[in-house]
Parts: sequence; C-alpha cells; structure tokens
Amino acid sequence: MSYTSFVTVVGCGVSGLTSAIRLIEAGFSVEIVARELPPETTSNVAAALWFPFRAEPRDRVLAWSKATFDELVRQHQAGVPGVTMTTFIELYDHEAPRPFWETAVSTGVRRARTDELHPDYEMGWAADVPIVETPAYLPFLVERFSSLGGTILQREVQSLAELTAPDRIVVNCTGLGARDLLNDEEVFPIRGQVVRVTNPGIRRALTDDEGPRRIAYTIPRTDDIILGGVAVPNDWNRTPDPELSNEILRKCRELEPALADATVIETRVGLRPGRTTVRLERETFPDGATVIHNYGHGGAGFTLCWGCANDVVALFG
Ligand SMILES: Cc1cc2nc3c(=O)[nH]c(=O)nc-3n(C[C@H](O)[C@H](O)[C@H](O)COP(=O)(O)OP(=O)(O)OC[C@H]3O[C@@H](n4cnc5c(N)ncnc54)[C@H](O)[C@@H]3O)c2cc1C
Repeated sequence: MSYTSFVTVVGCGVSGLTSAIRLIEAGFSVEIVARELPPETTSNVAAALWFPFRAEPRDRVLAWSKATFDELVRQHQAGVPGVTMTTFIELYDHEAPRPFWETAVSTGVRRARTDELHPDYEMGWAADVPIVETPAYLPFLVERFSSLGGTILQREVQSLAELTAPDRIVVNCTGLGARDLLNDEEVFPIRGQVVRVTNPGIRRALTDDEGPRRIAYTIPRTDDIILGGVAVPNDWNRTPDPELSNEILRKCRELEPALADATVIETRVGLRPGRTTVRLERETFPDGATVIHNYGHGGAGFTLCWGCANDVVALFG
C-alpha cells in the first residue's frame, strides 16, 4: 500500500471513534464523517457491559475482547469518565462449562457463591469486568479525538467512492449502515430494547442468556441501571414495545428484588449491527482506492472496540 497520512473514518459510534483516536495517535491526519453523531448512534443505546455477546468469529473476538478488557481496566485506573468495574454473574439453571471468554479476563473468573444466586439458578460464572457508561464515555472519546486535532463532519455517505482518493484511506465503521452502503447482505439487525430505571444501590451485573428468563440482564451504572432485554435477529422495528418493557421489568425485578420500587426513566430500542463475522480487513477497490473495514460487531461493540482499533492501525503497516 502506498503511504498516506490522510484518513477519513466513516462512522461516529464507538468503533469509528476508537479507530479514529488510535489513527491520530499513530500520526495520521484524521477526519470523521457520519450521518449520526453521539448521542444519536446505536452505541449510545448500549448497556454497555464488557461481554462478548453475539459476535463472531470466536478466536478473533477473544483476542479483541482481551485487548479491550486490558485497555478499559487501564482507563478505569486512570480515571477516564464513564469506565467503571463491577462484579458480573452469568447465571445458569444447569451446570455450565467454564465460559469461553475466561482467557480474556485478567481479573480471573470464579464460580458464583451460593449466597449470590437466585434460587432458580443452579450456578453462575462471576468476574470483575468493565462497564462503559455511554453518556460519559462517548463525549470523552469525541473530546479526546478533537483535542488531538481530529475533525468531525455530519454527513450521509451514499458510496465510499465519494471519499476515496489517491492520497486518502477510508476506514469504514458504519455498523448496520454497511448493509446498504456496501450491499453487504451478511449484515443484519439484532433488535434490542432496554429500560433505564433509577438505581436503588445495586452494584453487581447479572445476565440470564439461557435460563428461565432468557434474555434478562441488569447492568448497574453510577446514577441508573439498564434492564434488558431481547436480541431478535432481522427485526428492524425501532419503536419501543410497551408490553416488552413490562416483561423486562418483571424478569429483572425477579432477578433483583431491590428493583421493586425503581422508577422507569426511559425505554430505548437499538439495532445491534449483526454480521456472520465481524469484518475487519483491508480492501482494494478496482480503481486502486484502499478501504479498511471495521464493522459488524453485533452485541459486543464496546467489548471489542480497542482491540479492533489496534488492528485497524496495524492494517496500515
Ligand atoms: C440494547 C443494546 C445493548 C447493547 N449492550 C452492549 C453491551 O452490554 N456491551 C457491548 O459491548 N455492546 C453492546 N451493544 C452493542 C453495541 O452497541 C454495538 O456493537 C456498537 O454500538 C457498534 O458500534 P459501531 O460504532 O460499530 O456502530 P454504531 O454505533 O451504529 O455507529 C455507526 C456509525 O456509522 C454511521 N453511518 C452508518 N451509515 C452511514 C452512512 N451511509 N453515511 C455516513 N455515516 C453512516 C452512523 O451514523 C454512526 O455514526 C448493545 C447494543 C444494543 C442495541
């Protein structure tokens, strides 16, 4: 690849912002172009617990998850806004093998103690993991990028060819938007709906992905708690379903009885950018233009972001 110092990153969710920051740190001149900016991106809807959920392929996901885990722990220790650590328990109503993500967790994984388990669950795997609070973290990323000299332009792109040029590389972080932009039929929505409620003081995160309440999760943040949820493939409906919200509240209140009097603040829907596998690779177009793709992170965009951003930079080598 011929060397260029100018990069256009398309997309201003967590994938675009972290890629853009790593590129500008590596010495490139970087601009972001995006149709939606925070707080209007899918990334703003995320809970966002470190947890490799609905993203493939497993070997690459593990490596990206590990790199991101280590970076988020470092950021937490450095006092970066919006990065907390919490005890997370994955609940099972049957004996489950050790989780595949164990090797990515430097803080260690343990069996949940009996006193940590709801009676409906036989066991759980517990770990101390990062939570990213998007209302604080995404503005932090925007500010970090801007303070390094990056620029952000709000604009819809109809074709990546609009942006490519001999002296410019394009990094495509368009999430679900890649389906239309590239006619990539491997990209599909995985509908999520969350209810944000007041936090009565809960500090641990719970998920039931396979048991009697599947899917249910409670993700505590500093000032509120995110309750979920659903993961419905190929559902494009962005309107909150009130019945589903009631169902989410019921299941989560069963899991965490302290939520009984929690007040609903809002309900949000987000379409996770599903793909058969995350697409992180370099492509040379017929006219010689170079594009680096970084999209299709499913339910794990925050869990993979820094690992993927490092690999984006490596593809410039
Ligand atoms: C309910 C819910 C809960 C979630 N919980 C978690 C969690 O606990 N942990 C976790 O790791 N992940 C979670 N996720 C998943 C996570 O939110 C996504 O994987 C992540 O946000 C994807 O980020 P992204 O930057 O790739 O895409 P997005 O945030 O969707 O950003 C895409 C960007 O591309 C732009 N774009 C698209 N098309 C065009 C175009 N044609 N022209 C210009 N710009 C364009 C958009 O405007 C936007 O700026 C959750 C998601 C949902 C919906």
